[in-house]
Amino acid sequence: MSIASNASCIFCKIIKGEIPSFKLIETTKTYSFLDIQPTSEGHVLIIPKYHGAKLHNIPDDYLSDLLPVVRKLTKVLKLDENDTPEGEGYNILQNNGRIAHQIVDHVHFHLIPKKNDKSGLIVGWPAQETNFEKLGKFHEELKKELEKEEKL
Ligand code: 5GP
Ligand code: ZN
Repeated sequence: MSIASNASCIFCKIIKGEIPSFKLIETTKTYSFLDIQPTSEGHVLIIPKYHGAKLHNIPDDYLSDLLPVVRKLTKVLKLDENDTPEGEGYNILQNNGRIAHQIVDHVHFHLIPKKNDKSGLIVGWPAQETNFEKLGKFHEELKKELEKEEKL
């Protein structure tokens, strides 16, 4: 049972068993199940048992519980058998907000096997040219923010 739950949220309903799911690993704080519209075989969703739309809404103890579940699932899906950079791999994806391709507003991590170029996650990544001056200025701004954060 989730501590923060939303009666109209599809993933909260899955956690409570009100909507059926192909459940895999469940802990006190985490629930995992097959995605019903997989982009590759073995596409799994891992969710905190805490309703929050974006990652920053989820308490640390839920997030700490979740990643070891993802790791266990890599073993269940035999994604741990290739320790070389070449050949089959996998992606972990977590979208926040419509513009970032989030459809369901309950935090979820996708574990997506990447077996070939046609299935699984296909990334479009508009990388900019390296600009050390711009990066340096931005880094200074962030360090000021970090100092404020540390004082909190
Ligand atoms: P998003 O785009 O929000 O990161 O991904 C939402 C994911 O949830 C999609 O991959 C979609 O297939 C999956 N999904 C949506 N509704 C259901 C459902 O009722 N059951 C399951 N198992 N997956 C769902
Ligand atoms: Zn929810």
